[in-house]
Amino acid sequence: MTDRLILITNDDGVNAPGLMALKERLARVAHVEVFAPDRNWSAAGRTRTFHKPLRLDRVRLLDGTVGHVTNGSPSDCVSLALLGLLKTPPDLIVSGINPGLNTGQDITYSGTVAAAMEGVRGGIPAVAVSADVGSDPAESPDYTVGAEFAASLAAFLLEERPLPPGTLLNVNVPLLPAARIPPVRLTRLGGLAYSNYVVKGEDPHGRSYYWISGDPLTQTSDAQTGTDIWAIANGFISVTPIHLDMTEYSLLERFQGWETRCWLNEA
Ligand code: MN
Repeated sequence: MTDRLILITNDDGVNAPGLMALKERLARVAHVEVFAPDRNWSAAGRTRTFHKPLRLDRVRLLDGTVGHVTNGSPSDCVSLALLGLLKTPPDLIVSGINPGLNTGQDITYSGTVAAAMEGVRGGIPAVAVSADVGSDPAESPDYTVGAEFAASLAAFLLEERPLPPGTLLNVNVPLLPAARIPPVRLTRLGGLAYSNYVVKGEDPHGRSYYWISGDPLTQTSDAQTGTDIWAIANGFISVTPIHLDMTEYSLLERFQGWETRCWLNEA
């Protein structure tokens, strides 16, 4: 246990079991503070609230300790904390544990990853943690492996190997039989993680509605080797380094001189 401080948040709301599992384990390696939304913001991406004021309240968490809850998005929570409402700047931000994977190019939908991005924007290293918890409503999700791994990774980042500026780690934990500890792979982002479809219906007033949904794409073991989707399909914990600079550098070179051909620039 060090004197380091970890800020914990999520996109599922302050009472989500994944947040509490994370808090319990992280509290063994550092001081922890919770700034979490008062409701579920899953798939809210990097939403910010600029058109109305935000509230911040102290709440009694499920474990009896005190945390902070806001009426804003995951990004708002981190922003408020870093703008001075957390007395001391944190050394690390950990977001999660999200029930459901956040892999491939679909991570930009994720409120869990967005909260980590907000940390990085504020100059604080961050980790997003998501876990495959299955789809059986009778089984309560088990976050043990994800929380243990998050604590071990947090200690490593705080004590041995700090993340470079501008980067976060996106962690995904596969669904595995109890007592199996999955090995870890460093990965790159895969392609699309979900297939989308729209369900059309009619409301009680006769107006059509459209409900967009998605199913996880079949995550086969021969998905491109080295991606996060491949790692999960093969039973590994996936850790993907993410940079906020989304520039495609190869096009900067390939499109050299492009400006003069597509627009009437001065010669
Ligand atoms: Mn969520």
